[in-house]
Amino acid sequence: MLNRIDLRGSRRDPRGLLPRAQLDVSVAVERIRPVVEAVHQHGFTAIREATERFDGIRLERLRVPAEAIAAAAETLDPQVRAALLEAIKRARKVHADQRRTDVTTRVVDGGTVTERWVPVRRVGLYVPGGLAVYPSTVVMNVVPAQEAGVEGLVVASPPQAANGGLPDSRVLAACALLGVTEVYGVGGAQAIAMLGHGSSGADETDGCEPVDVITGPGNIWVTAAKRLLRGVVGIDAEAGPTEIAILADETADPRHVAADLISQAEHDPLAASVLVTDSEPLVAAVEAELATQVPATKHEERVRTALTGEQSGVVLVDDLEQGLAVVDAYAAEHLEIQTRDAREWAMRVRNAGAIFVGAWSPVSLGDYAAGSNHVLPTGGCARHSSGLSVQSFLRGIHVVEYDEAALRDVAGHVVALADAEDLPAHGDAIKARFR
Ligand code: NAD
Repeated sequence: MLNRIDLRGSRRDPRGLLPRAQLDVSVAVERIRPVVEAVHQHGFTAIREATERFDGIRLERLRVPAEAIAAAAETLDPQVRAALLEAIKRARKVHADQRRTDVTTRVVDGGTVTERWVPVRRVGLYVPGGLAVYPSTVVMNVVPAQEAGVEGLVVASPPQAANGGLPDSRVLAACALLGVTEVYGVGGAQAIAMLGHGSSGADETDGCEPVDVITGPGNIWVTAAKRLLRGVVGIDAEAGPTEIAILADETADPRHVAADLISQAEHDPLAASVLVTDSEPLVAAVEAELATQVPATKHEERVRTALTGEQSGVVLVDDLEQGLAVVDAYAAEHLEIQTRDAREWAMRVRNAGAIFVGAWSPVSLGDYAAGSNHVLPTGGCARHSSGLSVQSFLRGIHVVEYDEAALRDVAGHVVALADAEDLPAHGDAIKARFR
């Protein structure tokens, strides 16, 4: 079922040889540019038009009424409530440990630089809701923003015909459990434009003020809109169609490997599932498992499309050293290590959004209730970006405070550098103080 890439005996840089979707976000950017511009200019009417076109729903208003959020929490299945509360508890534990403390460095006597960590004022948290709905993503967005100390939290999620044109009721219930009251039933590029530029509403009680930072995963249209809005607002790493890479040797259980490859393929026909291994017998056993597990899975067609797509496959390597080079080159959103001495291999990985070590830490655990964040960089962005964290919502501001003696002490050096850069007015600003 899986494409095969045989790198055994190859000394070439694996980067260009690995399976990856030819997801052309730049083409999608051009497709959604008119939507984003229309929302910027016309607000509510443009959002309503785009929602009718892409979601097949006629919006009455943007903002979800408080009563609907409260009602969703009341009618939430008790098992889902308990699971969400546990996920929130674990995520809070991990993200509370990410809080930063201000640090003051005494550079010289009378001269200090303090790094102050200051939360952004207002954030827009995108919660996807096209092929699947993601109450878990409410948790993953909201908890780090709250732990960072952000005051204005706004959630946007696509309207669902099945919930009378409101976002999914479990998404609303998750908002209620976390105390988020500003929720918009808008999805796709139009939601990102609404958050970034702000928008009028159906009447004066409706409408959305612009935010300072937008975070959260989404499909290619959401990713494209975020790329377009970068600069107008802060944007987290691109978190597009999900990816799993599994580095495995002959000790891996093929049932687990197959189940984990399927679990991420379930997100999206564009999702990527990649197995990197030095074991031919494991490949054969995983293929046999896929042949029985795929037909039995609920979203069989979506899974099959994802697993057989150009973005998925098996990469055969000579040994785990070469496997490590391959997973580093691939920079997966999720990387599982199912090998002997898994922890040691995991500690040597340089590029991954999150790493799942050994047989008992599957990606599904991290998707919901490990305490880690599931909004992670995709498409190779793990080479330079991290997943969502408290840090995503903070800015470090340097506060510089020198007294007269400390400035006098360094004045000559500042003037020399200013002259070397032919910016003498910089030096004059120092000299003026000691004339
Ligand atoms: P989504 O909310 O991202 O997208 C749905 C919206 O797309 C709709 O509201 C609609 O307005 C818009 N849309 C649909 N077709 C369009 C078109 N032709 N042109 C313009 N806009 C269009 O929900 P989704 O589609 O289910 O995608 C969610 C994605 O998020 C999946 O790919 C999943 O793998 C990914 N995900 C990633 C992470 C991560 O951390 N990387 C986590 C969870 C989910």
